[in-house]
Amino acid sequence: MPIMYSILLVNAWALALVFSSSAPTWLWLYVPLGFTALCAVRLIGWWKSRHRIPTAEIAFRALKQTKILSFILVATLCAWSLALHPYGDTSMQANVAFFMAITGVGVIICLQQVPIAAYVVTIGISIPFVSHFFSTGLVSFMAMSIDVALVSITLLLVVFVQFRHFSGAIDARSKLEAANQENYKLANLDALTGLNNRRRFFAQLNQTIEKAQADKSRFAVGIIDLDGFKPINDLYGHAVGDRLLQEVAKRITASLDETSMVARLGGDEFAILMHHYENNDALTEQGQQICAALNEPFLLPETTIQLSASMGLVVYPDLAQTAQELYVRADYALCNRKRTRRGGVALFADKHIQEIEQATRIEQALNDADLEQELRVHFQPIVDAQDQKTIAFEALARWTSPVLGNVSPGEFIPVAERSGKVKTLTLLLLKKALSCATTWPKDIRLSFNLSTHDLSSMESLLKIVALVEKSGVAPSRIDFEITETAMAYDFEQVRSSVEMLKRLGCGLALDDFGTGFSSLTQLHALPLTKIKIDRSFVTDLNTNPASYKIVKSLLALSRDMDIDCVVEGVETQGEMQALSQLGGRLIQGYYYSKPLPEDEVSTFSPQDMDARTKRAG
Ligand code: C2E
Ligand code: CA
Ligand code: CA
Repeated sequence: MPIMYSILLVNAWALALVFSSSAPTWLWLYVPLGFTALCAVRLIGWWKSRHRIPTAEIAFRALKQTKILSFILVATLCAWSLALHPYGDTSMQANVAFFMAITGVGVIICLQQVPIAAYVVTIGISIPFVSHFFSTGLVSFMAMSIDVALVSITLLLVVFVQFRHFSGAIDARSKLEAANQENYKLANLDALTGLNNRRRFFAQLNQTIEKAQADKSRFAVGIIDLDGFKPINDLYGHAVGDRLLQEVAKRITASLDETSMVARLGGDEFAILMHHYENNDALTEQGQQICAALNEPFLLPETTIQLSASMGLVVYPDLAQTAQELYVRADYALCNRKRTRRGGVALFADKHIQEIEQATRIEQALNDADLEQELRVHFQPIVDAQDQKTIAFEALARWTSPVLGNVSPGEFIPVAERSGKVKTLTLLLLKKALSCATTWPKDIRLSFNLSTHDLSSMESLLKIVALVEKSGVAPSRIDFEITETAMAYDFEQVRSSVEMLKRLGCGLALDDFGTGFSSLTQLHALPLTKIKIDRSFVTDLNTNPASYKIVKSLLALSRDMDIDCVVEGVETQGEMQALSQLGGRLIQGYYYSKPLPEDEVSTFSPQDMDARTKRAG
């Protein structure tokens, strides 16, 4: 536009000056002044709007204006220059012809992207030009007319072709933009639920932190995990699992206001960002409402599913400041909650920081430890209460660290599992346990705890098998204990590992039974030889009817499955009596003995009541 108006003005004033001494003032001076004013208005308008991106509507209106204006401009310019024509001699008239032709060509080139305007200018100049100068009868003017006619036709073609290329390029760009938008969706949204994905969540989290830093505000991050989703997926198939996740996404979204953000981080893990809540109690309450919404049954076409959800929360900036810290700590609160209780909300607190620090210290000490020296195995008897006979000992790890002192396996095994060190620990402990077991009577079994990691690869499993074969203890005397949580990771892998141990001749016990989320189908799919009822059901067995019922039905289940059942954590005479009523025979717990050092195993006797009281402390 600015180039076009500059050409127009310069050319018009050049022609005006040529005619300044012969044409009347209104014609040579006032008319170009009028043009100049008009061009100035247009140029100022262009200058002001040059950085603005117009809406489609404004752009459309501007293009229409340009078309109308170009028509008016051409008409006045032609009329003006032809009006000057009679006031000059032949050379001055040639100037008029030159002005019309050159200005016309310049303007047409500038208007290429507005083809209608370009056509109007081409036709609007060439027709009056040709008809006027041809009618002069002068050979040079007639030749010029023919020239201008030919150039005009060429220009029409050029504009036509050029515009086709131009609109093609615009088209391609729109398609590219649409593709970019689609890519954005793919990169930032979760295809299954339509929620934001992990990547978008962290991007948003970083932005939220920046904003909160600037305006000193607070917000909360929540991580939600469904309890027992994996077994549902395994049992009903992925189609049902997918539909369930979509419904879960809907329920979480519906439980939040529009300022909150929900994302699916992967699997059955969801994350939320919450801004509006009064205080930590209100926040926890809001979290509980979300979990309560997820507790309602899901009525899917295939089946009705009821599950529970756990949630970990952390508040910025109280206990976490960076995106990574917020995520890790909300996740820590969640895992901690899941370990102790199924379902519900946990808010990351000061005490958790100490736990994390302790775990870090443990990890460090484990890395620096001389494990061969520092690790020992204690043995806790499993007694057949009916015959008052010891049938087995469970090997339990003991670690005395020169730095941290005695650390309980409940603390260091989970740390070793997270750091991947547990496989080394297992092999060391198994070797020590097997070497003790070689000295025991042949009818006493060894029970040994395996962790998920030990079962998750063929390589680690083969090392375990090799140790057993080398030990001199018959595989048929060994029970390996696995927990329900082990199955939650990769059921198929666990099953094939476990089958291999079974083929070797070992027994297989399901540990901490009742605390996990395994389905009966999965239990039947494993070649189990024992289940071990978790201590949490036994502790208040004789006083709490709910625990009594659970133990009763678990004992019935083991009879149905025709496998042994060990009751763990039996401490009191009262619990013993309740168990004998229910028909629980195999007992492990402080009632008989705490885990014993290697050298006390041989002297242990279930009948020895005095010693028993001493042992149980
Ligand atoms: P677990 O396999 O369920 O072992 C039983 C735990 O309950 C032992 O704790 C035992 O000392 C304790 N216990 C037994 N009877 C009673 C009782 O009457 N009252 C009370 N209050 N506690 C009782 P410990 O030795 O501290 O082991 C804790 C957990 O650490 C074990 O739970 C097991 O999951 C893990 N663990 C121990 N040793 C190993 C190991 O060698 N490998 C693996 N992977 N995990 C191990
Ligand atoms: Ca165990
Ligand atoms: Ca147990």
